[in-house]
Amino acid sequence: MIRHETIRPPKHIYPIDQWRIVENAFYPDFLAQTETLFSLANGYLGMRGNFIEGRPCSENGTFVNRFYESWPIVYGEEAYGFAKTGQTIVNVHDAKLIRLYVDDEPFFLASANLLNYERVLDMQRGTLNREVLWEMPSGKQVLIQTTRLISFEHRHLAAISYRVTLPNDTAPVTISSHLVPNAQSESSQAGQSIAAHDSDPRRKDLSDRVLLPEEPHIEGNRIFIGQTTRRSKMALACGIDHQILTRCEYTTETECFEGRAKVVFSVEAQPGEAIQLYKFITYHTSRSEHPQELIVRGHRTLDRGMQTGFEKVLESQREHLDDFWKTSDIVAEDDGKGTHAGMIQQALRWNLFQLFQATARAEGGGVPAKGLTGQGYEGHYFWDTEIYVLPFLIYTAPRIAKNLLRFRYEMLDKGRDRARELHKKGAIFPWRTINGEEASAYYAAGTAQYHINADIMYALQKYVNATGDKQFLYEFGAEMLVETARLWSDLGFFSEKKDGKFCIHGVTGPDEYNTVVNNNTFTNLMAQENLSYAAKTVEALRTDESEMYETLVFKTQLNDSEVDEWRRVAERMYVPSEDSTGILPQDDSFQEKEPWDFGNTPKDKYPLLLHYHPLDIYRHQVIKQTDVILALFLLGHKFSVEKKRKNFDYYDPLTTGDSSLSSCIQSIVAAEVGYKDMAIEYGRDAILMDLADVQGNVKDGCHIASMGGTWMACVYGFAGMRDYGGELSFRPRLPGRLARLCFPLQVRGHVLRVDVNLASVTYTLEKGSTLKIAHYDEMVALEKDAPVTLPIPTE
Ligand code: BGC
Repeated sequence: MIRHETIRPPKHIYPIDQWRIVENAFYPDFLAQTETLFSLANGYLGMRGNFIEGRPCSENGTFVNRFYESWPIVYGEEAYGFAKTGQTIVNVHDAKLIRLYVDDEPFFLASANLLNYERVLDMQRGTLNREVLWEMPSGKQVLIQTTRLISFEHRHLAAISYRVTLPNDTAPVTISSHLVPNAQSESSQAGQSIAAHDSDPRRKDLSDRVLLPEEPHIEGNRIFIGQTTRRSKMALACGIDHQILTRCEYTTETECFEGRAKVVFSVEAQPGEAIQLYKFITYHTSRSEHPQELIVRGHRTLDRGMQTGFEKVLESQREHLDDFWKTSDIVAEDDGKGTHAGMIQQALRWNLFQLFQATARAEGGGVPAKGLTGQGYEGHYFWDTEIYVLPFLIYTAPRIAKNLLRFRYEMLDKGRDRARELHKKGAIFPWRTINGEEASAYYAAGTAQYHINADIMYALQKYVNATGDKQFLYEFGAEMLVETARLWSDLGFFSEKKDGKFCIHGVTGPDEYNTVVNNNTFTNLMAQENLSYAAKTVEALRTDESEMYETLVFKTQLNDSEVDEWRRVAERMYVPSEDSTGILPQDDSFQEKEPWDFGNTPKDKYPLLLHYHPLDIYRHQVIKQTDVILALFLLGHKFSVEKKRKNFDYYDPLTTGDSSLSSCIQSIVAAEVGYKDMAIEYGRDAILMDLADVQGNVKDGCHIASMGGTWMACVYGFAGMRDYGGELSFRPRLPGRLARLCFPLQVRGHVLRVDVNLASVTYTLEKGSTLKIAHYDEMVALEKDAPVTLPIPTE
């Protein structure tokens, strides 16, 4: 169901620019949104796009991936096996704050007379820049130019260039550079409680003081603070240091009180003489080290940053982005008509840029649902990573994809513990987590989503097929496959009522508006895939790598009869059969439910989860996000196009799109079944999900899954790529409004460039020798640097 009313077009805010998001005026009404949209991050460290002066501010935010506080989940009514400990990402010390006083008057953006204002998120340089010309009531003009970045080269480093010039006047100028607690981490100090938030269950903030107070250490212009979280006992060190360059006279003073510290530069500004300040920032975190040790590490990072110098750090930032765009860019040309010509390209690049920011240096961590751009979903990792983000990474940055799968492997032991706790064999991966333990306090839309186990294995299979990395499969993947296969064969049963078929009851599929159901089609099909892949992998290991096989048997106590059982379960998996109209039931009961009265549901009652009791929703035929439609895409080789069309026709009008994970998938399937207009409309929803605030909650952070989904909508949707069993095939189908798409893919060491226009496609093998692909029904053997252009059949 397309709900366009929700789109708030960005037309007046961001002029079309292919590589930058430019804001030409200060928009107080969009403060909360732009704080998310102008975020910077490198996958380890993230800072919201708050103004450098700290005010005006909707929500200040600095996050370190995987740095969380835990808290006991309190239920009104307890039950056995409920998740016990919540985990919430900590909003750590704010180190980017710099205040300016000219003639002792503070610069306050909201009330200042601005002769010029420009803020730019530069997606080629990886910086957030702002230039303002402030005219003071006294008539003096002050030019303030800032550039900030979070380094891709130096994972623990952020840096700011802060430059102040009075073109025509003299004045005492004070630049005050701070290191202060954020509201969340020290809320009691800030005198506010921020636990409840708009009563939106998708947000939860910590209300207690989280970081145990410590006094900052001062050494010259360098300040450090080391802290520990109260309950999770994690350690943090945060430090800042400065370099000032100016021909004007200045003095420096450092102050520290009640956990806050600042370095104050007092300068006698002269006409036209720039005052150039560089601020270097570092964060280090650990689950085992003492903060003091992290401070030592932080000193090293700051030393390196200062020795390298801001300009060089800036250069390395550019180099990282050059590499990123080389491997990951999608050139998208629209039909050039209308005022929005070029918007798709800009918005698409912004999505890709945010994906890079969420993943580039995540190393040893996962990808939070909001990246590091906000507190929505508490910094948790969900299936979003494996189903929505990994496809992009597998084909553009396989090393990062592998790190993320490896990170899942690190959680396997906790998954085993969870399975024991729930009296199940194998392992159960958490629905949402930071540290590997289940953190969902609502089992019906949490633990019951067992499908996450199959989703992770689906991503593993895609990774192995696309990279050929058997080593990873055998060393880490096989163990996860064994434990997840064990889970599935233990979770379900052979039901006499269903002709001896294997049924899985009491699960929730991707659609969180129909929970704890029997035989969710998506889950059963994905479990079947999981079981078959597990059996196939163990078999291959036994034949090809006997030593590794022995290690696997030793680690998992595997016996042959189990593998036979998985095969039997997979073969006899019950899939609710389609009725005479060809509709695949979403589960055993969905089709029996009363239809939802969409006609009488006002627009302001969406998302339904914020306006109706769950029971109201659960007893109706209404869908939060694609479920059967997602299966039609992920396991598309199992269904004919005709069947896909029928099921899309049936399920699409029932799908509210209350989750941002829906539009991209609807776009892909619409493209496949020939609904070009719908494909572009849904694709547009996905691409503009955050820039146009389609879901109305971008203030809480970017929707990273939807961003991965935009890449999929281009590659799998419009370019019609499919990769079942690792064989690449393409059936491109551009809707008229999109005239060209061009992107690279990495496949088993090859680099393939696909350049699609309305009439033809050119495939170029840029690296590697001979790659076989299918173009519609034709097999094509590509040779290096020998582009092949093939026509797109007319329908
Ligand atoms: C969706 C989930 C998703 C989560 C985090 C929820 O609204 O229903 O599928 O994993 O958001 O993005």
